[in-house]
Amino acid sequence: MEVLRSKNALCAYIERNREMGKKIGFAPTMGALHEGHLSLYEAARKENDLVISSIFVNPTQFNNSADLQKYPRTVEADIKLLESTGNIDAVYIPKEQDIYPNGLKSEKYDFDGLENEMEGKFRPGHFDGVGTVVEELFRQVQPDNAYFGEKDYQQLAIIKKMVEKKNLPVKIHGVPTLREDSGLARSSRNERLTPEQRKTAKIIHETLTQVNDWFRVVSIPEIKDRVNKIFEKTSGIVLEYFIIADEETLKETDFFYKDRNYRAFIAAFAGEVRLIDNKHLD
Ligand code: AMP
Repeated sequence: MEVLRSKNALCAYIERNREMGKKIGFAPTMGALHEGHLSLYEAARKENDLVISSIFVNPTQFNNSADLQKYPRTVEADIKLLESTGNIDAVYIPKEQDIYPNGLKSEKYDFDGLENEMEGKFRPGHFDGVGTVVEELFRQVQPDNAYFGEKDYQQLAIIKKMVEKKNLPVKIHGVPTLREDSGLARSSRNERLTPEQRKTAKIIHETLTQVNDWFRVVSIPEIKDRVNKIFEKTSGIVLEYFIIADEETLKETDFFYKDRNYRAFIAAFAGEVRLIDNKHLD
């Protein structure tokens, strides 16, 4: 596995492999790698000649500086983990200068309104930061295919929209959420949870599963009421939002229309750690 620690090193590597006609699969990450990330590489391995990942904690997508500061950084352990999987050809670990040569600033994006829902409401500027870093990484890595987790479903939708609107030559693939045995979605942030909080946090996925049982049986206001009550009753976790949204527009719905697909979304705080998860309703 090649460890590429600068834009120059990456460019030389990409040029070499492009000349050989290699098909490139790419999965960007912020590091603190876990099995959820590894499932992206497995998906990439199946349909590409080369699998490349990146590790970069992107400052412009954090709306809260304490969250940025506390984000786990475990680059050397990440490299070891990647090496041990044998599934990765190269990891790109850019410096801030490589991504932001003109200073830490986001582009402004119009994602046809997707950016104004959920995470966009609670984390102003977040998706401009995500769009900026992913677009720049796509330009540098030049992947044929790129892989994103459904755990960050709104992010996945936004990247698809960016590629469509900017006509970028890359195909975006969604990968199902990998979970701990308790059902809690794997996340780098889980490392910041105490054992007690980790146990409590499984309520997020349990609730989403419950909601699926109520889908098209119980009215949405009643479902919301029940979800609020579950969280009020559970100490150690605070609900930030619960929303049932149209899977395509991500707009909240208060009624299940016949021919539309829906997904339930939760954001909650376990102590200071903000966790998100979602589930397709069927
Ligand atoms: P992050 O390092 O948290 O920015 O995540 C990098 C990529 O891994 C994103 O596309 C995430 O959606 C994806 N990812 C994170 N957690 C999981 C998970 N539990 N299952 C599948 N993909 C995940």
